[in-house]
Amino acid sequence: MYRKRLSRREFLKACTLATGWALMAPDAINRYKDRRDSTMAEIQIVEVVAKPLPEKVFQTEKFGISRKTHEEHYKLYQGYVNKTNEIRKALAALTSDDFAKGNQTYSLIRSLKVDYTFALGGVKNHELYFENLGGGGSEPSSELRQALARYFGSFERWLEDLKATGMAARGWVWLAYDHDDGSLFNYIGDAQNTFPVWNATPILALDTYEHAYYLDFQTARARYLDAFIQAIDWEVVNRRYEEALRMSRR
Ligand code: FE
Repeated sequence: MYRKRLSRREFLKACTLATGWALMAPDAINRYKDRRDSTMAEIQIVEVVAKPLPEKVFQTEKFGISRKTHEEHYKLYQGYVNKTNEIRKALAALTSDDFAKGNQTYSLIRSLKVDYTFALGGVKNHELYFENLGGGGSEPSSELRQALARYFGSFERWLEDLKATGMAARGWVWLAYDHDDGSLFNYIGDAQNTFPVWNATPILALDTYEHAYYLDFQTARARYLDAFIQAIDWEVVNRRYEEALRMSRR
């Protein structure tokens, strides 16, 4: 996920597009700009830029996950990038009036903030997913294998747990390292923004939405899970685990 900062000029231009200012009378635009200028001089929008789809992801074809699936899947990822940027701009454009209307049943700030986690989750989850696919033939490091055996009983039981969690999830599975106690756990996700926990680092992401496999396996999710497991790029997962351990040692 690359990031680009918008200048104030670019930001105001983006706000104009996002809020439909082009359709407003000039005096209304000026009043709105004056109000914003009094409170927003320091706000900088950080824009997410989509990462390219890694070429190695297409190596999954030999396991049955096709190029077409990844190409279509990538378009969904780009959609999450666009929506993340759109929501960041909309949040930055909130006025004191909008803030005063914050409400847990329905309010603009509530809708934007809930949907922001869905959009940004969609960006992060897919970047993890595409990156940890495609190796084929690589192996978990002995350190990671030992840790999986410690927290799951054996590597084979971890695999069993991963597949069962994959069958039970409505959207995602993440193998994550918990910085508080050093444990590893296969978390279940029903959406882009459920149910990760704080202070844990995902080291493997498995997309179980139907768009990830339906073209190739129709409703046979178990076959997709087998293909995914064969296509895991363990070099990437090993590196993420090592980085998570380094973070915990700091
Ligand atoms: Fe997906």
